[in-house]
Amino acid sequence: MGALMSTHIVCYSGGVASAIVAYEVVHRYGAENTLLINHNINPWVEDWDIKRFKQEVSDYVGVPITYVNMPDWDTKDQLDVCVDAKAFKVGIHPLCTNRLKTAPFHKWLDQNYPVRKGSCRTDVTLYYGFEKDEPARIERRRSILGEKGYRTAFPLKEWSGIISCTREIGIEPPLTYDVWKHANCTGCLRAGRQHWYVVYCRRQDVWDKAKRAEAIIGYSIIKGTYLKDLEEKFEQMRKAGIRADEKMKAPTFWAAAKRILGAQPSEEVLSCSVNLS
Ligand code: SF4
Repeated sequence: MGALMSTHIVCYSGGVASAIVAYEVVHRYGAENTLLINHNINPWVEDWDIKRFKQEVSDYVGVPITYVNMPDWDTKDQLDVCVDAKAFKVGIHPLCTNRLKTAPFHKWLDQNYPVRKGSCRTDVTLYYGFEKDEPARIERRRSILGEKGYRTAFPLKEWSGIISCTREIGIEPPLTYDVWKHANCTGCLRAGRQHWYVVYCRRQDVWDKAKRAEAIIGYSIIKGTYLKDLEEKFEQMRKAGIRADEKMKAPTFWAAAKRILGAQPSEEVLSCSVNLS
């Protein structure tokens, strides 16, 4: 009797880290045993070059992308789903992550790889592109998914000899990395003041829609301040020539912005991935 087949499911976000994981998983286990799961995002807030990158990596490794999308993904964005639900958060998590990613993924897993109560799917492993320096995030994800009966792996932390950039296989990372730190939605509802300053300077359309969403919902996106109350300060910063990109490290940004914005609150932006919690 042949060995049982295992399925290797890469949570494929559109960022470089999960693309490296996709390449390494296929290299190790073969294209025929690998799935690349992605949640397609409204092109208004997911840059065309992220979509180009996702497709190029998929073509290179020979695994088509399995899109697990929320209904109406191409007409609704992270702000629309929050306005529909009249909330920006579910518990401590951004509601948009749940609607755009977690809920569709959970449903897909239940339909395609269900777990019998109290058992574990030893034939399925879920892979994430979490970085070496995110041990707490890794342990949390491993624990949550383990309780649900799924094994997880984090190749960037656990495997050696892996590529460090997709340029090594001839694929340019998304151009968005020239401006943004992660391949998150533009106007990310997890992000803090630095991200929203960049949105203010570069995507006035997203900024205006986010302000309208705050007015409708009656809560602020950033803890402690509404976007409308930051507008004057951001304009002063823009006029003062403070760089509008996330390439600038947070302490450098805050050193430049402190006189106008005040002290730096704790607001680290993580890449956005399915929580399943
Ligand atoms: S990237 Fe940001 S805005 Fe988009 S779903 Fe995730 S938390 Fe929401």
